[in-house]
Amino acid sequence: MSAVIYIDFEAIHPVIDGEWHRTRLTGIPKPGQGITMLCGATAAAAFQPLNQRRDHGSPTEYPRCDSIYRRERGIPQQHTRQGRR
Ligand SMILES: [Zn+2]
Repeated sequence: MSAVIYIDFEAIHPVIDGEWHRTRLTGIPKPGQGITMLCGATAAAAFQPLNQRRDHGSPTEYPRCDSIYRRERGIPQQHTRQGRR
């Protein structure tokens, strides 16, 4: 029997150096596996509990990933800085 843990891939926003990116994942990467963000940045996957996400300050959104994500989905680009999440 399996204990199935369902993952919302849309909610996965990898943080690199305090900035969060968007990526296209089709499965859970292994720790240390390289993953590529929409903007082209690559880094090794690492996992932490969500409650540690702000240990070094709230990550900010990497604008280039957001811009690519919006263009792909036909969402209007944002030109103003948005507030805290
Ligand atoms: Zn990015």
